Amino acid sequence: MLLRRASLQAAKPRPLSDQVLLRLRELPMADVALALGITLRGTKAMCFNGHDSASPSFTVSKARNTWKCFGCGEHGDAIALVQKIHGLAFMEACKWLSGHFGIIGGDVQSGRRVHTISRAPSPKPSNLPPPATTTNPDPELYTWLVAHCGRVKESLGTAYLLAHGIAPELALKCGVVELVDPARAYRVLEKHWGAERIRSAGLSGKRRALSWSGYALLFPFNSEEATQYFQIRCLQSSMKFFGPSGIPKPMYNSQRLSQLQTGSLLHICEGVPDAIAMEGAGLAAVAVLGATSFRSEWVDELLPFDLVGVPDGDAAGEKFMKFLAKEFRARSKSIRFAVPPKDMDASDVIARGMNA
Ligand SMILES: [Zn+2]
Repeated sequence: MLLRRASLQAAKPRPLSDQVLLRLRELPMADVALALGITLRGTKAMCFNGHDSASPSFTVSKARNTWKCFGCGEHGDAIALVQKIHGLAFMEACKWLSGHFGIIGGDVQSGRRVHTISRAPSPKPSNLPPPATTTNPDPELYTWLVAHCGRVKESLGTAYLLAHGIAPELALKCGVVELVDPARAYRVLEKHWGAERIRSAGLSGKRRALSWSGYALLFPFNSEEATQYFQIRCLQSSMKFFGPSGIPKPMYNSQRLSQLQTGSLLHICEGVPDAIAMEGAGLAAVAVLGATSFRSEWVDELLPFDLVGVPDGDAAGEKFMKFLAKEFRARSKSIRFAVPPKDMDASDVIARGMNA
């Protein structure tokens, strides 16, 4: 497999210099919001906490280069926003921003380190692609990338999947693949598609490299024979799930809806592994990736089914549950909830049953 050869060592974090921190905080708020998939209309957007239904409360201040939500009161700088949206610790958020906006010295060298190990030439700074402008979903490129990754074989990946209730055959059936070496993957992608196409697909920032480093699993969102989107789960950093930058998150497993009869039981999970684990247990499931990604037209698509919401057993899960309840109540549609025990999610519950 093209993207298989790699070294699987995690890079040690290095302290950030004050200069790098300053540069991260000076990144234009609107650009950072866009990179995180937040669509601003002027200086306003719907809040990522999901409480906005009609008018947007999330606001960026160009003068102060900060953001604030007038609904829930959350506020902060660029780094804080990355932490919120991607669920990252401070250092990881700095690393994400540095990587995305091509700021050298922000502990973004881990990708390069893998690069060096695989004996590749370093990219020349003079060949940097033009500054980021717009991003668009690119099913053609996503399909190609997923097809050029291998089925999950590394123990890092199989162990993660098993812990989430996903046996290897199930992962294969759902098209989950592993991307071992992002530096090599970028070179292969660039040769085939060119740097600008990769960037506009939301997979790289200003730097000629993918937006993440280290071993990762890719969870494709397939429909009509193409990968419309995918989620990335890096297993060599604390980065949680994320997708191509600036691309709206679709519903996971939405093609399942057309196979179900009216009145059938359908689970709405909060995470992709949860939906896969439930499907593996014979339960129809889709995943809605948090309240921020929910689109009101999905209510219409989901109305015909007997709905069970499956939030995570944490504070965010509670918010998710309230959000779904509100969305469906507004349409006089009932939805039940199956709440996992505290600090567990549906896939944990299924994994426990599987390993018992
Ligand atoms: Zn808010």
